[in-house]
Amino acid sequence: MARTYAIRTFGCQMNEHDSERIAGLLEGDGYQRASVLEQADVMVLNTCCIRENADNKLYGALGRLKAVKAKRPDALIAVAGCLAQKDRELVRERAGHVDVVFGTHNVHRAAELIDHARRHGPVVEILAETVREDAEAFPSALPARREAEHSAWVTIQIGCDNSCTFCIVPAVRGPEISRPFGELVDEVRALAATGVTEVTLLGQNVNSYGRDLALSRRGSTNGSDAASAGDDEWWCGSGWTADRRARPLFADLLRAVGALDGIRRVRFTSPHPKDLRPETIAAMAEVPAVCEHLHLPLQSGSDAVLRAMRRGYTSERYLERLRSARAAVEDLAVSTDIIVGFPGETEADFVQTLEVAAEARYDSAFTFIFSPRPGTAAAEMGDRFVPHDVSVDRYERLRRVIERSSRLANEARIGRIEEVVVEGPSKKDPAVTTGRSRRNTLVHFPSPPGGAPQPGTYARVEVTAAAANFLQGALVDIESRPALAGSDSSPGRRRIPVAVAAS
Ligand code: SF4
Repeated sequence: MARTYAIRTFGCQMNEHDSERIAGLLEGDGYQRASVLEQADVMVLNTCCIRENADNKLYGALGRLKAVKAKRPDALIAVAGCLAQKDRELVRERAGHVDVVFGTHNVHRAAELIDHARRHGPVVEILAETVREDAEAFPSALPARREAEHSAWVTIQIGCDNSCTFCIVPAVRGPEISRPFGELVDEVRALAATGVTEVTLLGQNVNSYGRDLALSRRGSTNGSDAASAGDDEWWCGSGWTADRRARPLFADLLRAVGALDGIRRVRFTSPHPKDLRPETIAAMAEVPAVCEHLHLPLQSGSDAVLRAMRRGYTSERYLERLRSARAAVEDLAVSTDIIVGFPGETEADFVQTLEVAAEARYDSAFTFIFSPRPGTAAAEMGDRFVPHDVSVDRYERLRRVIERSSRLANEARIGRIEEVVVEGPSKKDPAVTTGRSRRNTLVHFPSPPGGAPQPGTYARVEVTAAAANFLQGALVDIESRPALAGSDSSPGRRRIPVAVAAS
């Protein structure tokens, strides 16, 4: 009997993607996936310290696993991710039944460390930083067990060079390191060859992609691009070496990936408003495969709060960029992240956030009540914390503003035909199929006779009704069905990567 593993992921898409890689490594080692965490031979908790109550969630989950470990001492418990990176030895001090602790810089060592723990006992391995030359440090460079066969994440950059005062990412993920351009293009091409039609380019600050790459490095592709690129394919590697121009690389990456055969949808998350360049907007407008969706984290509409957050833009600058994007990209959907109750936020500051949110007409938003993350500058601003009841009231007022614009945006879609990529049958009603539009809106429609089309199917759906968070419609026709290598048609809705709440 093969040993089994299960992974519980907390947090953002970077973590989801890391989990796919851990799964891929374990399957490469002969493990099979178990559907129930508590029944697996290896139970991995991949943690996040960006979200609220991360500690409580982790140690609560570990508390429940203690009984499992008591009954099955041979089962192994591994803790990975940002919180492991931050807490280090503390994880085992607080939960001595944990067998393996590894951080964000050595995901590629997951299988080895688990094997080591099985043979020799508990191990904690936290690296201080990613070794730039170590290609395996990038999650995408490792084998993966993807959740959706037609859709893939591609990590283009790890770490972050910014210093937003509320965010722990720079401390736990380190400085920005971009993957070489040609390697990324090769990877997406290889994904397309396996039937992937949708890719999401991932990074903490995607639109600063390449900033860290020296010009000489920009030409360092892994061969196939460099060999095949002609003069017109300047973006594919050899051109970088030939002309050595300092280009806005993220825009070029969108163009290169969007031009690949088989890739019908390119998404990315998350861009930073201060780094949203005209070239990126132009690429979004001109490359048909790049979806009409921009996740542009606002965080606050008050310039004073933005300064205290060290965001590097003003609300007017943010709105200018948003206006440029909307003017250039027809039908653009915009989502955002907003924190309410940041230390020192006054009622007047908050009203400015409401005004910016109303002007931005968001299609959707992740809204959060500020909660201090240990290790961040904002956690030290205790004398300016906003009382919780005030934050809750503001949160509710903001929610209403966002909901109004989301509903209006969705109602404006009624009568239109949307291109929908099927995720699978709805969890609530198997007679209904669920998918996502190019604008990243959930779309539900009655399944055709024979049941929900296979995940990855491209369908055209006429929108007949709208709510704040989804559209309803009727199937017009099936445009194309997936041609997947190793297609998994198991029932249940498949998760497609969407926006992430950071940057
Ligand atoms: S919020 Fe985003 S841009 Fe700011 S430090 Fe965190 S990851 Fe970097």
